[in-house]
Amino acid sequence: MGTYNIAVIKGDGIGPDIVEQAVKVTKKIGERFGHKFNMTEALAGGAAIDAVGTALPKETVEVCKNSDAVLLGAVGGPKWDNLPGELRPERGALLGLRKELGLFANLRPAIMHRALSNASPIKHEIIGDSLDILAVRELTGGIYFGDKGYREGAYGREAYDVERYSPFEIDRIARIAFDAAMKRNKKVTSVDKANVLESSRLWRSRMEEIAKEYPEVELEHLYVDNAAMQLVRNPKQFDVIVTSNMFGDILSDEASQITGSIGMLPSASLGEGSFGLYEPIHGSAPDIAGMNIANPLATILSVSMMFKYSFGLVKEAKAVEDAVTRVLDKGIRTADIASDGAEYIGTDAMGDAVCAEI
Ligand code: NAD
Repeated sequence: MGTYNIAVIKGDGIGPDIVEQAVKVTKKIGERFGHKFNMTEALAGGAAIDAVGTALPKETVEVCKNSDAVLLGAVGGPKWDNLPGELRPERGALLGLRKELGLFANLRPAIMHRALSNASPIKHEIIGDSLDILAVRELTGGIYFGDKGYREGAYGREAYDVERYSPFEIDRIARIAFDAAMKRNKKVTSVDKANVLESSRLWRSRMEEIAKEYPEVELEHLYVDNAAMQLVRNPKQFDVIVTSNMFGDILSDEASQITGSIGMLPSASLGEGSFGLYEPIHGSAPDIAGMNIANPLATILSVSMMFKYSFGLVKEAKAVEDAVTRVLDKGIRTADIASDGAEYIGTDAMGDAVCAEI
């Protein structure tokens, strides 16, 4: 039995609809396993711009820092699209939270449930009945945060962005990947471009070094071009994929598309210690906001990741995952995952269906 503090940021669009279901599931787990989850709501994104004029109010950062974990819906929407870069909900709130909270590792499971295997764009003979890959992406280093600007080059004015990594940054993301692999199938695929990039050669050598701390885990290296190919040719060969910020940005999207269902996929962004931010990988889906048709399962599965990674509640995490699997096995669907012409239920009812299985 434990007490855990969770900052809850509903955000914009379908955010409030889906987070409400995830909160329901959290409370249900609390009842069943005897835990106390204190949930404090905070504003971010467009909702915060409307209320207080900034996408990430200081109070929100405070609430997050005083919590054990953050649950986030999604932010952004057409209403705020014309604001300049820094002031936009996605830039202001998401990048701001990553920076303020020191979230350096992004974990994205690409899980295809047996009951939804026909949604995959990959042939059944390749993908089979199920898939479970974990993409671990470095989130605060590399080319996205390196030195950038304009300068005079051989052909006149040119733009540049620098890819850079330190051993410290590589080692800590490596340990996240190896720790995760120890709880899974004990295989790590490190993706780089070591045939061309110096930063990748450092990446590869640090991965080799950290692997010595995990003798049970098999480490393999792939060049990023090959990794992109292997993901569609033979995705089942992967367990944990670990890679840099930019390669991870691209490969984690590719891996998630293989599963075919954007409304099903959770994510975790982790910092030092056990603190983390948990959110679905999809956006705020303004086209279906407030219509009670959004799929809440990605957010509900994000709660499961929160139990596992921030609270160490492995049984509780599994209870959520199993409940989702049972709901899908019973043929219960929201509109986005229903086959053509099949019956489906609303956001609310899906949250209730998962609670009923816990
Ligand atoms: P999106 O993920 O919001 O939507 C893409 C498509 O998938 C839409 O047709 C949408 O209806 C559908 N969809 C998404 N989630 C769904 C769910 N749970 N259930 C059913 N259908 C779902 O991507 P977009 O349309 O490119 O972006 C919309 C807004 O969200 C933009 O303002 C964008 O910047 C923002 N965004 C936010 C985040 C975030 O908060 N982490 C991530 C991506 C995009």
